[in-house]
Amino acid sequence: MQVQAAVLHAPQGALALETLALETPRDDEIRVRLVATGVCHTDIAMIGRPFPVQKPIVLGHEGAGIVESVGRSVTKVKPGDRVVMSYNFCGECPSCHDHATSYCHDFAGTNFVGLRKDGSAALSLGGQSVRHNFFGQSSFATHCLCTEKNVVKVPDEVSDQTFELLGPLGCGIQTGAGAVINVLKPQLGQSLVVFGAGAVGLAGVMAAKAIGVGILIAVDKVPQRLALARELGATHTIDVSQTPDVATQIKRITGHGAHFSLDTTGIPAVTRQALDALGPRGVCGFVGGAAVGAELAVDVRDMMIQGKTLRGIVEGDANADVFIPTLIQMHLQGLFPLEKLVRMYAFEQINEAIADSKSGATVKPILKFTTPTT
Ligand SMILES: [Zn+2]
Ligand SMILES: [Zn+2]
Repeated sequence: MQVQAAVLHAPQGALALETLALETPRDDEIRVRLVATGVCHTDIAMIGRPFPVQKPIVLGHEGAGIVESVGRSVTKVKPGDRVVMSYNFCGECPSCHDHATSYCHDFAGTNFVGLRKDGSAALSLGGQSVRHNFFGQSSFATHCLCTEKNVVKVPDEVSDQTFELLGPLGCGIQTGAGAVINVLKPQLGQSLVVFGAGAVGLAGVMAAKAIGVGILIAVDKVPQRLALARELGATHTIDVSQTPDVATQIKRITGHGAHFSLDTTGIPAVTRQALDALGPRGVCGFVGGAAVGAELAVDVRDMMIQGKTLRGIVEGDANADVFIPTLIQMHLQGLFPLEKLVRMYAFEQINEAIADSKSGATVKPILKFTTPTT
């Protein structure tokens, strides 16, 4: 069938809206008609860097849509189901067997190569293969293929208006919320500092507020984002552009240093601050995509004497089948006001949405697809 997709042809390039051919789903595949998709920083990183994805490719990995067609072996969803898509994994390695799918031994192969496992591409432009299957979906398109592994059915009680907000639960939002709820697990009244008040960091703030964190500090350099963090439940905010020693300031606010910190910036110097801001036995989680080969210097003696932990986290350790429905329930109960992070754009405005995300003007862009009239 013919689909419209935003194609990345070359590094740093604008995405080009083009008409491509998409194969019918194979036995294990599911075709989804996109209703909306988030734009994540990982999409933007793929545009800006020469690696790791090959081009041309269709990016996008926070898709929400309606199942149109399923392969013969698919039983998890059926045509007409509303679904959110998440990251992909092999299902066969030691991590996947242990239900730690975000640490799949073939995470890169299943999410970034842009082809099926057998090396084929289901998408083509003028007879030439175009890579897709980005995070098992490639949602910057009117239609995409996914599999049972990375598709989550959305409950019927969710309104169509709310459904349009849910794509980012599949990556950025579950990354921040999962880091707090699944990994750091602060107890009622303990303290948490979130570095970076973008979509991932603010998802962490919302999750922390929902589960009853005590002192909740957001750190950023953009005043509007810090104001939003306060609106979402941060008890304190620190503007790094006005604060020479962030770790000392956090120790002043918390008394002994924070119980937990979460760095969402991908900048090693910030991760170091997040580690320094901890009190004894504190745990620092970090989730941002640092540059390949980036190194972090730590005060080894301080870490040992204070019993601190530094923990890398992918996709919030989330099992999407469990965690996305949890976040949806939290949202429906008013505990997770996702809509406050979002600005909606038409799919055709994709390059503008990306520019607004990069500039910081928009925290979480969501692209809406026009409903077909046929
Ligand atoms: Zn695996
Ligand atoms: Zn992402």
